[in-house]
Amino acid sequence: MTHDTLPSALDKDAILKRSRKFCAPFRISDGDDFRLDQVDPADTLHLDKSDKKASQAVLAEGVQLLAELQDKLYAQDRWAVLLIFQAMDAAGKDGTIKHVMSGVNPQGCQVSSFKAPSSVDLDHDYLWRANQCLPERGRIGIFNRSYYEETLVVRVHPEMLARQTLPPKLMGDDIWTHRFRDIRHYEEYLARNGVVVRKFFLHLSKQEQKRRFLERLDNPDKNWKFSAADIKERAYWDDYMAAYEQMIRHTASDGAPWYVVPADNKWFTRLVVAAAVIDTLDSLDLAYPKVSDEARAALAAAHQQLLAE
Ligand code: ATP
Ligand code: MG
Repeated sequence: MTHDTLPSALDKDAILKRSRKFCAPFRISDGDDFRLDQVDPADTLHLDKSDKKASQAVLAEGVQLLAELQDKLYAQDRWAVLLIFQAMDAAGKDGTIKHVMSGVNPQGCQVSSFKAPSSVDLDHDYLWRANQCLPERGRIGIFNRSYYEETLVVRVHPEMLARQTLPPKLMGDDIWTHRFRDIRHYEEYLARNGVVVRKFFLHLSKQEQKRRFLERLDNPDKNWKFSAADIKERAYWDDYMAAYEQMIRHTASDGAPWYVVPADNKWFTRLVVAAAVIDTLDSLDLAYPKVSDEARAALAAAHQQLLAE
């Protein structure tokens, strides 16, 4: 990490302040009154399209500060940070993760992508596979999709629930309420163990998804990103939106808030996510460990020894 290129102390305060301004409007820490239509997927706060270029410089500064904070997180080795990303297809999860984490030391960061569960996964409770991918202390863990799919795709497609071979009497109508409660408790448990959970729903509009799908179909270099299954899921749009709204209402908490991030403009999505990660790391009072007098004496001895060679 190149500390000499980091922003000065004054800039740092300015970046922190700006970060809070960008992420606060989209943070949901109490879901009781939340409705999805409170957030416009095309929102860019006070910025307009002509700010897109300037936003790249803002993001670059944020990424640099994030790298410094992550370096301290790693050195301090106390907290773990878990960032969860959920979204409809083509909302930009991968690109956001790539850009926001671009300055971070790969050793301090681990990304886990959750696809349809394997037969081994299905033989266990649904948190089992996620639990094995939790970040270690000092690390940032990213879940590209997560156990929240258990309240989304599985809710929208009840046949998936049937495939989970749960005892029939546990598959009643209250299963979703129970899953929300279990997830809330699981995230509380993580918080009490030093795992800081932040959740991002990249909120894309149906029109913008169509535009991005068409782009993937029209551009040979983007064909690989398209799968026929994506169109199939698009047909369930309204069911997904209802499931997302329920999920956020029931699992947003102070300890593990959701950020509902407008996703129709990728440059804005990245700014908000970077801001939220910076704000989160800043809240942890990170600092490099102090060297004890004893250790300092050992360092001085090593110094002498090297010079005496
Ligand atoms: P992404 O769609 O996240 O960009 P991808 O296209 O590379 O990634 P897919 O093969 O589409 O990967 O895998 C993601 C799919 O896995 C999603 O459709 C998601 O709904 C599904 N999935 C994830 N977790 C679960 C789960 N617990 N139960 C059922 N399906 C799941
Ligand atoms: Mg996919």
